[in-house]
Amino acid sequence: MQKITTVTVLGTGVLGSQIAFQAAWFGFDVTAYDLTDELVGEARTRFEKLAGVYTADNVGGDADHPVEGRAEKVLAGIRVTSDLAEAVSDADLVIEAVPENLEVKRETYTRLAALAPQKTIFATNSSTLLPSDLKDFTGRPDRFLALHYANNVWRQNTAEVMGTVDTDPAVFAAVVEFATGSGLVPIELKKEKAGYVLNSLLVPLLNAAAGLLVGGFADVETIDKTWRIATGAPFGPFQIYDVIGLTTPYNIAVANPDPGSQAFAALLKEQYIDKGRLGVATGEGFYRY
Ligand code: NAD
Repeated sequence: MQKITTVTVLGTGVLGSQIAFQAAWFGFDVTAYDLTDELVGEARTRFEKLAGVYTADNVGGDADHPVEGRAEKVLAGIRVTSDLAEAVSDADLVIEAVPENLEVKRETYTRLAALAPQKTIFATNSSTLLPSDLKDFTGRPDRFLALHYANNVWRQNTAEVMGTVDTDPAVFAAVVEFATGSGLVPIELKKEKAGYVLNSLLVPLLNAAAGLLVGGFADVETIDKTWRIATGAPFGPFQIYDVIGLTTPYNIAVANPDPGSQAFAALLKEQYIDKGRLGVATGEGFYRY
């Protein structure tokens, strides 16, 4: 099985910067790529902030092994570049975290296919596209799969690993080993599924909670309390909405013509978003923090 040691991350936005930093923190040789020198400069600032968070949370350490001092070494080790050929010239694994847009991703893989060495495995972090939508642009469908992180990767540290029918099982295994080695809990899917495991479970729960609320069946507190007490879960669905932030659920609901979704979108907009109540991040959403 191929051993992964050098990792290149494409896109240094919200997720890409976290993915790159997580791998570097756990000892991988990391290069981060973005479109311009200005953007990779911003990536440096993101890495510095993450270094503070990882140190404060003692990520990968314990009481006997504090991570004090690791941040400087990790920061110094991450290379950043706006030259794609240079970024991927020696990569064992490229993790793509460019915007969630089919054309942007296809163009990225077309360029990448021509520049990366034959040994390089490609992984997409896409949340909503299937790897099958992209595999024909990679030039190596057998060395391509999805590796899906959750936001705040150091804490919500699942890594959903999902191949296509063409993915070589040895490549899948190498990526699972990389995930484990970089402080993540690999979640292996046996075949492709939109929403992976997590969103296949979470989205129906959140939709059902919205339906109960806008249908006038029960209020926010009652719905959450039911879920917590009856299942032992720590959070109810509206507490989860607050953690996600209400803008993304609004964008999804407003795009769905179903009358229930439209009613939920209107409620989110009028009672929360227009009043600056966007969830935990703004100190208030369905609840106050
Ligand atoms: P983002 O907009 O924060 O970052 C995207 C980055 O990609 C930006 O830095 C941008 O400059 C760069 N970029 C744009 N075009 C590029 C190109 N052609 N080549 C290289 N870089 C390019 O987006 P994000 O939230 O980090 O999402 C990135 C991917 O991660 C998406 O596929 C998304 O579905 C997935 N994802 C996001 C989250 C989340 O919570 N934000 C969670 C899991 C997965």
